[in-house]
Amino acid sequence: MPELADVEGFRRVFNDHVRGAVRAVRVRDAQVVRHTSRRTLAKALEGQRFDAARRHGKWLIAPVHGSDDAVLLHFGMTGSLEWADAHEQEHRHDRVVLAFDDGELRYRDMRKLEGLHLTRGDTARDRVLGDLGVDATEVTREHLYDLLAHRDRQVKAVLMDQYEIAGLGTLLVDEILWRARIHPRTRASALSAQDCGRLHARMRTVLRHAIDAGRVPPRDSWLTGHRDDDPGTCPRCGSTLSHGRVGSRSTAWCSRCQPEPNK
Ligand SMILES: [Zn+2]
Repeated sequence: MPELADVEGFRRVFNDHVRGAVRAVRVRDAQVVRHTSRRTLAKALEGQRFDAARRHGKWLIAPVHGSDDAVLLHFGMTGSLEWADAHEQEHRHDRVVLAFDDGELRYRDMRKLEGLHLTRGDTARDRVLGDLGVDATEVTREHLYDLLAHRDRQVKAVLMDQYEIAGLGTLLVDEILWRARIHPRTRASALSAQDCGRLHARMRTVLRHAIDAGRVPPRDSWLTGHRDDDPGTCPRCGSTLSHGRVGSRSTAWCSRCQPEPNK
């Protein structure tokens, strides 16, 4: 499932390739086109250029050059953004294709939970993005402590809540908590300033590596490299990993490195 790091990868795909004007917009599945029709989308984009895309949380925002229009992309559970040669056959899950002189940008998504929005003006854009929290790459240590200290919820639920902090999904959060030696069910408000400092430092490290990789890398020294094993062993202490649901999300942790709170 695409998280902040994957969307950073899509942002690089966009910014590395998209140069000239859009020659054609091909909507293969109108279900993913939100807040507009396929005709309006084509009319708004054909002949136009884009400014550099930016990311906020799990959203990619591509402003249309010289206008208030923007294309907003969310990748749901299965989405991606691919650059392809025009001669390359489209994938059956390519839902929207923007054709340029030197190639095509393809929005691919199997499950179509989210989609591609065309927003006209800042207000429309802000309405789609809603009240997203600060991007996870910009959270300061003080902000994190202040946020967690006032939340009487499980720390994993707070970190995954896009309206608190934007961009983290289950892989990133599990990896960060495992490194910080914090159990995912710990009450956020029960964390000390020291715990939060450690959490923040580990978050920075994990995000840096994941952004470089364009995904949460399943390295041998990472929890992510072992969480899909059955049951898998902790790469730090060799204990058997624990698996369960925290909130409604499947979660992996090491019971030895991350002791259950109140025990
Ligand atoms: Zn361990």
